[in-house]
Amino acid sequence: VLAEANPARYGSLWRWFDEVYVLLELLLQQHYLARCSASFSENFYSLKRIPLGEGTRRPLATAGLPKRQHWKSLLLLVLVPYLKGKLEKLVSSLREEDEYSIHPPSSSWKRFYRAFLAAYPFVNMTWEGWFLIQQLCYILGKAQHHSPLLRLAGVRLVRLTAEDIHALETKLAGATSGQTHSFTSRVQLAVRKALGGIAFSLSTGLSVSVFFLQFLDWWYSSENQETIKSLTALPTPPPPVHLDHEPSSALLPKLKTVCPLCRRIRVNATALSTSGYVFCYRCIYSHVKAHQRCPVTGYATELQHLVKLYSPES
Ligand SMILES: [Zn+2]
Repeated sequence: VLAEANPARYGSLWRWFDEVYVLLELLLQQHYLARCSASFSENFYSLKRIPLGEGTRRPLATAGLPKRQHWKSLLLLVLVPYLKGKLEKLVSSLREEDEYSIHPPSSSWKRFYRAFLAAYPFVNMTWEGWFLIQQLCYILGKAQHHSPLLRLAGVRLVRLTAEDIHALETKLAGATSGQTHSFTSRVQLAVRKALGGIAFSLSTGLSVSVFFLQFLDWWYSSENQETIKSLTALPTPPPPVHLDHEPSSALLPKLKTVCPLCRRIRVNATALSTSGYVFCYRCIYSHVKAHQRCPVTGYATELQHLVKLYSPES
């Protein structure tokens, strides 16, 4: 949105959106992996990653993952989706070029990307099928992972225990009130605190802004124009409450042809479009002019709401 509004300044940002996004995501996931050995969303659902083959020994979430699993997790969390997205974009652009035959024919390059285009759906299908089978196995209790990426990273997900949550809380508190002795350690702490602050604000800001962006996306999507119109249009007023069931409306005469104001047979019957009651024209005109309301129901009424009635016998 920013780039669309100001293409001169933010255009480059838009062009490198994927890369900037990956960088930010890398920072965010690194922060979460180091702090609570889980990705951002896993932490949100109070899960943690533990290394495979640990048996029953479960390290605390604050302990972090071993270096190998940590970096593998980070790469698989951030880079694999990025590369997959890039590949999909490449394929769609190649397909377009193929349709409009932009590249000169009979080059070896063309043969290559023809083969690539032909092979890509199968590769993609295998990839998705792998995920599906893994998920099925997970549901049936045959596998420890719902996603092959977790197995590649050499970790599995478990719920946070009470000790984990306690340790996370004390770690958060400890980060803000650390005791320092030397100048260098103090500087280190300050840098770490600043980085932590940046990452923290980034993570909270990110979740809010992601929601906001999703909302904007939805708001501006073309198929929602009808919904928006119905939302932004004036609301339908509620049906009027009928007060005449109450005994307090003693104003109303028993006879239907009698004016409630002068209590005589109506002359020049006139209805109010706001309440529907009928009066003499002269009575209601002066009443509305003086009080701007219906004498029976009290609904706000102007002179323009008077409707003259013409019965067939008059
Ligand atoms: Zn009257």
